[in-house]
Amino acid sequence: MSTRASTSSPLNSGDPANLTDTATALIHHPYQPPGGFETVQPGVHKASTVLFENTTALKTRQWKDKSGYTYGLHGTPTTFTLEERLATLEGGLQTLLAPSGLAAIALVDMALLRAGDEVLIPDNAYGPGKDFARGELAHWGITHRVYDPQDPASLAAQINERTKLVWLEAAGSVTLEFPDLPGLLAVARAHPNIVTVLDNTWGAGLAFDAFRLGQTPDGEAFGVDVTIHALTKYPSGGGDVLMGAVVTRDPTLHHRLKMTHMRLGLGVGANDAELVLRGLPSLAVRYAAHDASTRQIAQWLTRQPEISQVLHPALPDSPGHAYFLQTCRAAGGLVSMVFEAHRHSSAQVEAFVDALKLFKIGYSWGGPLSLVMPYELQGMRQFGPLAGQKGTLVRLAVGLESVNDLIADLDQAFRVLRG
Ligand SMILES: *Cc1c(COP(=O)(O)O)cnc(C)c1O
Repeated sequence: MSTRASTSSPLNSGDPANLTDTATALIHHPYQPPGGFETVQPGVHKASTVLFENTTALKTRQWKDKSGYTYGLHGTPTTFTLEERLATLEGGLQTLLAPSGLAAIALVDMALLRAGDEVLIPDNAYGPGKDFARGELAHWGITHRVYDPQDPASLAAQINERTKLVWLEAAGSVTLEFPDLPGLLAVARAHPNIVTVLDNTWGAGLAFDAFRLGQTPDGEAFGVDVTIHALTKYPSGGGDVLMGAVVTRDPTLHHRLKMTHMRLGLGVGANDAELVLRGLPSLAVRYAAHDASTRQIAQWLTRQPEISQVLHPALPDSPGHAYFLQTCRAAGGLVSMVFEAHRHSSAQVEAFVDALKLFKIGYSWGGPLSLVMPYELQGMRQFGPLAGQKGTLVRLAVGLESVNDLIADLDQAFRVLRG
């Protein structure tokens, strides 16, 4: 440590030189990570600045291949650990973290599309992702078209020489149709210029293998090129973190995404990364618990005469049920129900929602608390049986409470609806 520069300070009390020495000693404390301290959870490392021992280290250290650390925005041991675990979960090879699921969607669009390109989006895609296409992408001269996710021919019909990116989502947001993913991929893969990207938030890397969805005639596995996740949902599992991820299996594609990610300055906080790292070990058990309760609730809902349709891909009447059976080993915690306008006014359905006590009104899902959200059907879909329908859809995000208590809560709210 430095010695005091002067012992003849004009200020005798509260000597500033003394304070400076203390401050320097605190900042230059010879911290060593504790050796032999093996813990269940990894340590949390925070950084903007990362120090280099000399200029050779400065010039040679690489963050792009994760062999070194250069700046907090380009990765820390905490974010690299989370990225690796997410890639493993998804069956991918590389991961980028983004501040939210929506930021992950926007990153993919911005990295892979240029003025003059076109992107195809399923009718039931996550709404704010469609808004990004209608807003920013349109302003930048990138057009989009919406296809019927339940009909690969609809996708085929929309593809032209400007198509560069095809979004997929399974199950669809809010309406939970399960698409023929191998069928849609077969259409897109016939065009070598097209990159396919799946929003895999619902499946969470557990319900199906997004990178192994089918086999080519010569026995080679194929899947989507890119997946995105809202880690906000199941991986965090707490309802208290916002984060997204972009997973790939191809170094070139990853590099394209990574350069845009870097130039946009997208980073995540170490404490948020820690919370997702903390959520991951219990992810599969929680997902299975959400799944079991949701199937039970979905079955129960089919017996309520007020509901004209229960949407859950494991139900035989739900759109895409056969594809769900082909593709999935689990189904997560979402179920939706349709109240037709000629039988129930919006106000009546809202009174039903307000009557729920354990299901709280709020966006998002994947945490311990059950949530409910009403949506007006009018204008929601362009394709499929819900297109042109009037009424209210109520989506339940089933949490980890006792399923009997949740059914009792629904039951008392139905009694309110019945008057
Ligand atoms: C919630 C959600 C997102 C966006 O995640 P945020 O972290 O809330 O931005 C994206 N896709 C799907 C399917 C989602 O459910």
